[in-house]
Amino acid sequence: MPDRCPVCNQDFQIEPGFYIGALWTSFPIVIFIMTLLSILLLVFVKMQLEWFFVAITIILFSLQPIIIRLGRAIWINIFVDFDAESITDAENK
Ligand SMILES: [Zn+2]
Repeated sequence: MPDRCPVCNQDFQIEPGFYIGALWTSFPIVIFIMTLLSILLLVFVKMQLEWFFVAITIILFSLQPIIIRLGRAIWINIFVDFDAESITDAENK
């Protein structure tokens, strides 16, 4: 993750531990994926419960880099508003 946005120069390290709160935005994403996988694997594929836990563990661990980044992006968008004028200001400097 870069320290600053290359387009608008927004500081991504707003304060120490800022992204700890991103746990609250990545958690619903994990629950959503788990719900979809549970319906798919248990109802439609009729996978055995033991293999379901193995599959869901592997799938969620492999999706972690994407989920973490998505959760952070949602978290910073809660606190930092997009301002189109700041982009043109940064380009003019
Ligand atoms: Zn930006």
